[in-house]
Amino acid sequence: MERTKYAGVYRRGRSLYTRTRLDSPVYGERMLVEKGRRYRQWDPRRSKLAAALLKGMKRYALRPDSRVLYLGAGAGTTVSHVADIASDGKIYAVEYAPLPFMKLLMLAKRMENVFPIMDDARYPERYEVFVGRVDIIYQDVAQRDQVRIFRRNWEFYGEAEVGYLFLKTSSVDVTKPPAEVMRMAVDELKPYRVVERLNLNPYEKNHYLLVVER
Ligand code: SAM
Repeated sequence: MERTKYAGVYRRGRSLYTRTRLDSPVYGERMLVEKGRRYRQWDPRRSKLAAALLKGMKRYALRPDSRVLYLGAGAGTTVSHVADIASDGKIYAVEYAPLPFMKLLMLAKRMENVFPIMDDARYPERYEVFVGRVDIIYQDVAQRDQVRIFRRNWEFYGEAEVGYLFLKTSSVDVTKPPAEVMRMAVDELKPYRVVERLNLNPYEKNHYLLVVER
């Protein structure tokens, strides 16, 4: 297993892995043990952050002690890898749909740095009581108003230094070319700085990662 330039992320052949304390898979992913250390394979077709890394993402900010507000956690597929990486940090995982949330609860039983919050990411003031200081806001909600949702959280949690907005362009406007929807999103994010734009093709069609700083 080789280290990559991304803290906490490893590579063997073409596949990415995160080092883990878990002793069994979360969503059926392959596990490896090497020199007494356990690793979980990280599938870029199931996790947009893995896709972004394979596409050469530059502004990677995750560290072992990162505190992350994760909006649109789903069943916790990507959350579990982020929690492997930020093993001494905290992942506040917001999800409003009951079925994925139940899986997220099961994940939180296995990973003590995952804190599930069942709420709508449109209302950051409602979950403020459960969320401590955060360094990073990560959003993957695939909604028409996803840029507005990101801005509300970015403004509410003003101490966060980096924002990762995974933009699903077809959810915003299916009639416009993805690159145009992405440029509109960058405009909507002003006065904040979009320091990186990454097209996630071929892993995810109609998806960009926008990295935002203040
Ligand atoms: N990020 C997940 C992963 O990589 O494992 C996948 C997330 S899936 C693309 C989007 C999720 O966002 C869905 O589970 C959906 O229920 C959730 N979602 C959409 N709008 C939301 C909102 N306003 N508040 C909270 N969750 C939301």
